Amino acid sequence: MLSVKVLTVFPEIFPGFLGYSLTGKALEEKKWQIEAINIRDYAEDKHKSVDDTPCGGGAGMIMRADILGKAIEANYQGGRIIYMSPRGKTLTQKISHELSKEENITIICGRFEGIDERIIEEYNVEEVSIGDYILTGGEQAAQIMLDSVIRLLPGVLGNEASIEDESFESNLLEYPQYTRPIEWKGRSVPEILLSGHHQKIEEWRREQAEIATKAKRPDLFKKYLDSKNS
Ligand code: SAH
Repeated sequence: MLSVKVLTVFPEIFPGFLGYSLTGKALEEKKWQIEAINIRDYAEDKHKSVDDTPCGGGAGMIMRADILGKAIEANYQGGRIIYMSPRGKTLTQKISHELSKEENITIICGRFEGIDERIIEEYNVEEVSIGDYILTGGEQAAQIMLDSVIRLLPGVLGNEASIEDESFESNLLEYPQYTRPIEWKGRSVPEILLSGHHQKIEEWRREQAEIATKAKRPDLFKKYLDSKNS
């Protein structure tokens, strides 16, 4: 079972939206577990402060290495340590697949201007970003990363085959999907999908996935062509 420890100054944010829908059901069914640890519990002053001003000056506050270090050492149970950080490698479906095979993941959620760099060196911390924009805290990023990981755990999605067809799985975006009503505002569901001809439907979907990827994500389409030709 995947066991997640999150180090945060807002433990009450967890499990948050991970407590709903497929990820929530999986949590109830003990397909994964999460413990949110309050970094403030390791602070020593009466105000429970975890941050201090940046050495060298500049705006904002930095989370202190000593306090965060104690929180890590008191709770670490092995496995990868990830700091949610805009400076990290960008999360991809490939990384989510990798993480879904881990037993233990420890996640550090930054606040303020981030954490003291020595934490990253001392504990061999990996930095993961969820995209090129700045959030106010790592908690949001952690939940997004975990959401994409948990839905890949065995038995979490009802129909495991549906993973394979999803966007990014083979460097292709998903083909267009339709459901009832068959006619809506003068628009019909493509006839081929009503034909019951599974092989033709599969061919059509592949072709539509290629068209969509080429138009919407030329960068991804190039990867798709490269992997197809290699
Ligand atoms: N001063 C930092 C940003 C701090 S934002 C910089 O310029 O790099 C505060 C916290 O939010 C960070 O410590 C990090 O944990 C989280 N965060 C912000 N943007 C993020 C992103 N794109 N991906 C992952 N975490 C992010």
